[in-house]
Amino acid sequence: MGRYLEAKCKICRRNQAKLFLKGDRCLSVKCGFEKRAYPPGLKGQDALRKKVSDYGIQLKEKQKLRNIYGVMETQFRNYFRKAEATPGITGENFLCFLERRLDNVVYRIGWASSRNNARQIVGHGHILINGKKMNIASYLVKPQDMIETKRSFKVKEEGLPVWMEKIDDKIRIVRFPKMEEIAATINENLIVAFYTR
Ligand code: SF4
Repeated sequence: MGRYLEAKCKICRRNQAKLFLKGDRCLSVKCGFEKRAYPPGLKGQDALRKKVSDYGIQLKEKQKLRNIYGVMETQFRNYFRKAEATPGITGENFLCFLERRLDNVVYRIGWASSRNNARQIVGHGHILINGKKMNIASYLVKPQDMIETKRSFKVKEEGLPVWMEKIDDKIRIVRFPKMEEIAATINENLIVAFYTR
């Protein structure tokens, strides 16, 4: 399975946004983007002054979303094709597919400090779906799925997304997430434009 080798803080600086890829460190004064809010490299500060084409803006938005969810390009494009083939608004379907990934769900529940950490937890077989071990991070959760862990992870304090509910020690998927419930500052129309140009 492919994975990113570039330093995570550099990814944020390249995207010119905090993407929260390193868990607790992202909320601390050690955040790389807080310290150097310009692209990495010798010409990083000059890059901010350059005029960017429409294509460049679309590409940047696409890369930003891909980096947030930590998905490789081929799989990311496959989600987009599936979203196009699904009834409804393509951009919203696309974000919904990404949001339903098991690694993202484990992160949203609060059992992991980042999606990367969540991928490790899933990969190590700590997550059960409907009573069965599931170690595939790209598994797409669906309504009525019951998610549990045998480890002593805590559900995050600020609460679960509204499309999930806690039943004893398990999390039930109530329904698919809606666009406005997905906490990411993304202009999905730019990404639709990128893949349909
Ligand atoms: Fe991005 Fe800051 Fe987290 Fe590094 S610490 S991954 S720059 S949000």
